[in-house]
Amino acid sequence: MLTASHILLGFAVLAVWLLSLWVHPFGRCPRCRGRRMAVPFGRYLIWLAYRHLTGSTRAKPRPRPCRVCKAIGRRQRIGSRTLHRTVRRIRGELDGQRKARQAALEENTR
Ligand SMILES: [Zn+2]
Repeated sequence: MLTASHILLGFAVLAVWLLSLWVHPFGRCPRCRGRRMAVPFGRYLIWLAYRHLTGSTRAKPRPRPCRVCKAIGRRQRIGSRTLHRTVRRIRGELDGQRKARQAALEENTR
């Protein structure tokens, strides 16, 4: 059952998630875990299948520069760009409002 506390908890989780997005817009690459080198997934699967079928202890395929993050090791997290854009827009609007208010004040004092 969905109660008010559940909704509140949802909002809290969302807030924490947004905060983490704001503080860390770039996350570690999920494929190479920040090591920049990763075994291509297809090769890894082939290696797994080979090992499983033949029971060999062949060494893991050599890692190559990660293609997911283009060997940067970091990846922009989903939503972080949208979040930053939204915050910038809200800030811009607030700034515009403040400037308008200041201009009105100056008009009055003159
Ligand atoms: Zn990567």
